[in-house]
Amino acid sequence: MNVLTTPEVIDTIAGLRARLAGTGARAGERPRVVLVPTMGALHAGHLALVRRARELGDIVVVSIFVNPLQFGAGEDLASYPRTLEADVAALATVGADLVFAPTGQVMYPHGPSSTRVTAGPVGTLYEGAARPGHFDGMLTVVSKLINIVGPDVVVFGQKDAQQVFLVEAMLADLDFRPVIEVVPIVREESGLALSSRNRNLAEEQRAAARALSAGLAAAASVAGRGVAAALQAAHAFIDAQPLVKLDYLVVVDPQTFLPVAADHLGPARMLVAALVGSTRLIDNAALDLN
Ligand code: AMP
Repeated sequence: MNVLTTPEVIDTIAGLRARLAGTGARAGERPRVVLVPTMGALHAGHLALVRRARELGDIVVVSIFVNPLQFGAGEDLASYPRTLEADVAALATVGADLVFAPTGQVMYPHGPSSTRVTAGPVGTLYEGAARPGHFDGMLTVVSKLINIVGPDVVVFGQKDAQQVFLVEAMLADLDFRPVIEVVPIVREESGLALSSRNRNLAEEQRAAARALSAGLAAAASVAGRGVAAALQAAHAFIDAQPLVKLDYLVVVDPQTFLPVAADHLGPARMLVAALVGSTRLIDNAALDLN
């Protein structure tokens, strides 16, 4: 399809399906469809996913939907930034073909669906402990989007490491057709991981939030000395910032996503979450515990 033109914005399920059904006709073969699920307020991290999607397929569909199912009571559903016009303009620069931007009414015409995909035990840890039901809501909407779009590939960012783990598990456990492609975390020069929520940070909060990525980098650099040394190195940065209220800092086994034992050797991942003011930030980094 056309590259680097303004993507077509579609807001109904039937409209999107009809548009996709029409795309393979001329070539006589099924085009390779790549889906990039997002909640909008797009930044360079999202655009990296779309660029990768562009390399992987013929038709790049970006969904923009702030999914009420994955927000808990008292979370930022109402205030989550919604910037559709700017998002579509940004997507034109990276060659997205179609933007699927449904309303809540289109996705949940009878109110929040009672059928849910459940994430299982790992879905109750870390982000899931802080946000009960979040991962069930996320997996449910990802399932719906996969059923609506019928992609060959779904693209996710490593920024949300637990989300990646749970989507991978769901795709395997429930025999979904698409394969997952994971794109590395895009960071500001300061190290701060790009996030739609960063726009809520005041300047001094943004400066303080750098402690998260600085802590992860310090941990990675001493990981050869073991789990305790890595945790200590990260804490030294994070605990020094009074504006950063740590929620969790944990080292997990990439195979199980459970916390590693103190004597764990081999690849691992450090996860961090913190509140800076009322803004919840998460980040993570690979550790080589050898
Ligand atoms: P969101 O709009 O926050 O739901 O994110 C949509 C997708 O973009 C998810 O797969 C995220 O992991 C990914 N993403 C968000 N921020 C970044 C980032 N800084 N680097 C890479 N991927 C990201």
